[in-house]
Amino acid sequence: MDRLSSHRATKEVVQKHNFKFSKSLGQNFLIDDNVIDKILDGARLSEGDNIIEVGPGIGTLTREMGKVAQKVVAIEIDKSLIPILKETLDEFDNVEVVNKDILRVNIQELVEEKLNGGPVKLVANLPYYITTPIVMKFLEEDIPVTDIVVMVQKEVADRMNASPGTKDYGALSIAVQYHCDTEIVAKAPRHMFVPQPNVDSTVIGLHVREERKYKVDNEEIFFKTVKASFGQRRKTLLNSLGGLGFLTKDEIREVLNQANIDEKRRGETLSIEEFSILSNIVNSKVP
Ligand code: SAM
Repeated sequence: MDRLSSHRATKEVVQKHNFKFSKSLGQNFLIDDNVIDKILDGARLSEGDNIIEVGPGIGTLTREMGKVAQKVVAIEIDKSLIPILKETLDEFDNVEVVNKDILRVNIQELVEEKLNGGPVKLVANLPYYITTPIVMKFLEEDIPVTDIVVMVQKEVADRMNASPGTKDYGALSIAVQYHCDTEIVAKAPRHMFVPQPNVDSTVIGLHVREERKYKVDNEEIFFKTVKASFGQRRKTLLNSLGGLGFLTKDEIREVLNQANIDEKRRGETLSIEEFSILSNIVNSKVP
């Protein structure tokens, strides 16, 4: 058996096992060779790599990673896919399938037990309904992850990759870019999936920086400042920062002045660097 990424091969596997697609589990299987190659390139996949895949489906991407990587652990929630994966991944003794809900997996433990303690890469065509929680879980839970290369809904990729002052820039752009350099790896219009979803997708690469780029004294206050600033998009910072709940208007004016930020600016125009300067001053005023 070679690649599964043609419509014909996917249909054959699905029919043979009488598999029923679940819309609520975001089951849209990739049927485009070119995009698979771009995902592997975007992940800079090489033979020493330890990979976590979320949602292997019938194993289309998993097989291609199994051919190259040292080890692939693929976490799949749908138990009806497990016998299929057993067959499609049969020839790979470096691929392990775990039948669990990714949001309930202790990833640190999994990396310790199955992937030599890492480092790991997350490479996946993610189920749409939980894209952001999965990505944030990997970024925030102190997991030794170096690269996240994932297929997500186009609009989510645009938000993760957005620059200050653009319509897509918001708390998600900052949450991701605080940790990572971002890169659009490939476009995947809806016709590249079966069944065809009603949204287009993009493969985004999030490359986790080894060194901290931003000097933030208190991450909790940093993210609270970001959240308050984007709380009401059309408000000026002088007004929106009231949402922090512990600064008077005069104090906000003073904080902005110290940070060298015009009080009439709005949150969506601030760079992450400016947010870090601002939040460090806010942090010094926490009662
Ligand atoms: N990797 C396959 C491909 O590219 O063709 C399938 C991708 S499909 C978009 C998403 C996959 O994630 C499905 O196989 C689905 O069953 C699985 N999935 C959905 N929710 C999940 C969860 N909470 N934990 C683990 N896997 C999940």
